[in-house]
Amino acid sequence: MSFEWVSYFHCRNCGLAKSSVDIPYDRLGYAVCPACGVTTGPTVRKVTSELPAF
Ligand SMILES: [Zn+2]
Repeated sequence: MSFEWVSYFHCRNCGLAKSSVDIPYDRLGYAVCPACGVTTGPTVRKVTSELPAF
């Protein structure tokens, strides 16, 4: 039973999905998208009214 937990980075800006081992991180530990350079916080959640209205 070998199971490797691979987390994936998914850029919210350009939509890039990549194995997180290939993703560079800035000095704050945020993932930096190699395609567009946007930093993405690991579990940062801004609770705003971004959800689409159903
Ligand atoms: Zn991106």
